[in-house]
Amino acid sequence: MALTYKAGYDYTAKIGDKEVKFKQWTAKEERTYLQAIENEKTEITDKLIFDILIKPCIEDKNLVLSVQEQKLLLIEIRKVSISETFTDEIECKSCNNKEIITIKIDDILSYEKSNYKDIKVQDMTFHVGEIKTNKAKERLIMDKGIINYIFVDFLLHIHSIDINGELNDKFTFKELEKFMDSLPTKIFDEVFEQYQLMIDSLELKYKYKCPECNEEEIIDYTNIPNFLWI
Ligand SMILES: [Zn+2]
Repeated sequence: MALTYKAGYDYTAKIGDKEVKFKQWTAKEERTYLQAIENEKTEITDKLIFDILIKPCIEDKNLVLSVQEQKLLLIEIRKVSISETFTDEIECKSCNNKEIITIKIDDILSYEKSNYKDIKVQDMTFHVGEIKTNKAKERLIMDKGIINYIFVDFLLHIHSIDINGELNDKFTFKELEKFMDSLPTKIFDEVFEQYQLMIDSLELKYKYKCPECNEEEIIDYTNIPNFLWI
């Protein structure tokens, strides 16, 4: 008798326009993650989370995800691997009443898909869109710290740029990075601000009503307590 436990990619998550087939976390992923967070020198980045907790579970290993899509997929895997709910102790801000509540993740999750349009600033037009597959690796390699991650993610969405009516669509990632870094900060911020309005967004907000004093409070669960094993 072979000592094997077979698990297929039995689950499907709808992430934006993508149907992602995945399987549950195994004891191995749990242990690898716990070992990583135990080591104080290890920085828990999106790349690390992807490598340890997402890549082993997805059928398509070349899947390209945006920052929010990755978070959404992580939640979907967590739902089938650990639980669809989490508990939290809430202390009312006005009467200090304490209560332990159980929240279903789906009840507080709202996800809005991206909606890309051209970005026009001065004499430049930035054509933005979904990340092209062949560029995904660059993002992962360059993932160091959250600010850089968002910046690199932004650059990967720029497909081409019109400057004074001249189309530039053949540049390397490095060339694009150099160009964007050379822009006056005022122009860069304007482009980035417009871009931020187009990208997908993920919100986890719970409307809590205190049973003692009826005071209402919106609680942001961007970081779900005990989201992973501890
Ligand atoms: Zn209260």
